[in-house]
Amino acid sequence: MKQIAIGVSSCLLGHRVRYDGRDKRNSIVENELCSRFQCIPLCPEYAIGLGVPRAPVQLIQDGENFAVVGVADCSMDITTSLRGYADFVGNTLIDLCGYIFKSRSPTCGLTDTPVFDHHGKEVGKGRGEYAARLIRHCAALPAIDEIQLADPNLRQEFILQVETYSMSLKR
Ligand code: SF4
Repeated sequence: MKQIAIGVSSCLLGHRVRYDGRDKRNSIVENELCSRFQCIPLCPEYAIGLGVPRAPVQLIQDGENFAVVGVADCSMDITTSLRGYADFVGNTLIDLCGYIFKSRSPTCGLTDTPVFDHHGKEVGKGRGEYAARLIRHCAALPAIDEIQLADPNLRQEFILQVETYSMSLKR
């Protein structure tokens, strides 16, 4: 029987795609979730053509607007490319029944990404730009990050949500 597919931030699956050339392998994702679901690795920053290693980026806020720009060079603005990639994933990977995001990332973070102003001062926490766009696109898609996944109750809840979402797609 075909396994239910979920998207996963590639670095959580041990892919060395982070800006510093490292991964963020997560044993719960690998051992528990990937034995239950088909885990599709997705790294937006790599997919839009940034190499590994690459210059780090950060999430900045200007009034109502958010952008993902280089930490050292704010003229490096990847916001539009990340939004375009989120639209592409939302339009093409229509079988995805859930998503495990990497916490704190300016691209993939779900709730706890540091947000900075133009002077580099942290002004709060928010959602990475790719995650925000994808969730806006697929509002009902079950989503979690690896920190939340460490909580057995939240993990179980996510698994049930994914299975329920999968059934709703078949109807
Ligand atoms: Fe790629 Fe997202 Fe992981 Fe960053 S957090 S390395 S963009 S998958």
